[in-house]
Amino acid sequence: MDEFDLIRRFFTRPPGLQTRLGVGDDCALLVSRPHRCLAVTVDTLVGGVHFLPEIDPVSLGHRALAVTLSDLAAMGAEPAWALLALTLPEADAAWLEGFAQGFFALAERYLVDLVGGDTSFGPLSVTVQGLGWVPEAGALLRSAARVGDWICVSGPLGDAGLGLKMCKGELAWSDEGAVARFLRPMPQVELGLALRGLAHACIDVSDGLAQDLGHILAASGVGATLVWDDLPLSAAVRRYIDETGDWRLPLCAGDDYELCFTVPPERALDLERDLQERKLAWHRVGTIEPQPGLRLRKGNQVLDFPPLGYRHFR
Ligand code: ADP
Ligand code: MG
Repeated sequence: MDEFDLIRRFFTRPPGLQTRLGVGDDCALLVSRPHRCLAVTVDTLVGGVHFLPEIDPVSLGHRALAVTLSDLAAMGAEPAWALLALTLPEADAAWLEGFAQGFFALAERYLVDLVGGDTSFGPLSVTVQGLGWVPEAGALLRSAARVGDWICVSGPLGDAGLGLKMCKGELAWSDEGAVARFLRPMPQVELGLALRGLAHACIDVSDGLAQDLGHILAASGVGATLVWDDLPLSAAVRRYIDETGDWRLPLCAGDDYELCFTVPPERALDLERDLQERKLAWHRVGTIEPQPGLRLRKGNQVLDFPPLGYRHFR
């Protein structure tokens, strides 16, 4: 099986109506929409950096698309297309079958057409570009937080970080939910769309809440206080904290791919109603304040909390 057999066999599927021409020519041809901005993003996953080398191919295929769709979600964009650049040490049909299965299951769920890519030989690395639509003035920018906004997150924090520790064998116990959260994160696409016109700023939590919220604070020129007791934590994360005392995990561990967003308090009732109608979860965890920096109210103390999280080259 050479490069072209591989592309034909695993990565060529009939595209939807939004695609004039998909995989197979020098470029894909995409059907554009008037009065919309095209939201464009790209993410690379490198073995040993972004995933454990022994990861199963279905999870890797899922994850590669999920992290890109998560960026589109955080912008309030409706996903439409993806491009896939694959570098592979070998053309193993069983592995590729699994990878394509994980990738396309998620792509089909969100009507994303895979319209092109690149395939080469080398150490395993996966790059996915994502494209989607936002209304011309409707994108959820990091710079849009305002003093007084509620800070909200879409779901529990720290589970993926805990799952990573479990996959690495660093704990004496395991939790299926936490491992699944690490291996197969779900991008919050529906929530991103629901937040258009409701939320001010938004970001996806890929590197830990403290660091990612820190990006919103810096871009918006504001500060914030988070309330420890309001953080949504799973039973597994609570158990981990009880056993180790490492309470920073849910604030500093990455890979959860929940959304963190800010909402003006006068829209809180609309938020409550809209998200309940769509059966989407959210939790208020803090408030945007004029004083720069990130603080954490824990018990009756207010701690300065540096925006720690995962960083390359550190
Ligand atoms: P070119 O040499 O013009 O870059 P390629 O030979 O790399 O074209 O690719 C042939 C076609 O297959 C192109 O349409 C390209 O977008 C697509 N393609 C290559 N690799 C992948 C992949 N991993 N997934 C999806 N499409 C791919
Ligand atoms: Mg090429």
